[in-house]
Amino acid sequence: MIKQNIEKVRTRIVEAALRAGRSPEEIRLMGVTKTRSPEVIREAFNAGLDLVGENYVQEAEEKIISLGDTARQVEWHMIGHLQRNKAKKACQLFDCIETVDNEKLAKALSRHASAFGKEVSVLIQVNIAKEPQKSGVLPDDAYSLIAQIADLPSIHIEGLMVIPPYSSEAEASRRWFRATRELRDHLSSLFEGQVKLRELSMGMSNDFEVAVEEGATIVRVGTTIFGPRRR
Ligand SMILES: *Cc1c(COP(=O)(O)O)cnc(C)c1O
Repeated sequence: MIKQNIEKVRTRIVEAALRAGRSPEEIRLMGVTKTRSPEVIREAFNAGLDLVGENYVQEAEEKIISLGDTARQVEWHMIGHLQRNKAKKACQLFDCIETVDNEKLAKALSRHASAFGKEVSVLIQVNIAKEPQKSGVLPDDAYSLIAQIADLPSIHIEGLMVIPPYSSEAEASRRWFRATRELRDHLSSLFEGQVKLRELSMGMSNDFEVAVEEGATIVRVGTTIFGPRRR
């Protein structure tokens, strides 16, 4: 089941890329594995999944320990809100933190990554629709945040991550994906290549094809691969 689901999602990504005149190799499929057991995750690895997203540090740690050597053969991204007091553990576990939205968190990540002698990728989470109560830096504040943290050691800003307002209609997300890509292009030109914002992490089960059409390089898919979540 999981194998077929992954293959179907990959096919839909390729088709969306071709519709948009993009090269399908630009897009990576992330399996979002919150609430899934190590056994299920292993099944996904066996089906070729090589990028995993987890929302909680503690939950990720338990799975990574349980998966042992297999865990080290894939890339792990933190996609949930990260509290600063979990920054150390997050640095230890993850290759990329996609949810950096403030300077203090970035500094903590930099400090811990340096102490581990590790290089950690980060994405800037943008609250693109300026929703109250939602994580992410506001679009207007993204430039100054990136300027503040771009030179910190041991962390590398690779791009932007976004969770648009929820809608059951995929098309409703399009304007937010487009706005995120335009923000990325704008920021890239302001930084004149000194900060490379190659990655756009956007699109989930309900709207990943629209995200690919609008420039996503990472799509984060849970339910469509693993089925409905119980919690
Ligand atoms: C849970 C989650 C996903 C995956 O959602 P699905 O609708 O199950 O595909 C993607 N991104 C983030 C940030 C999530 O928390």
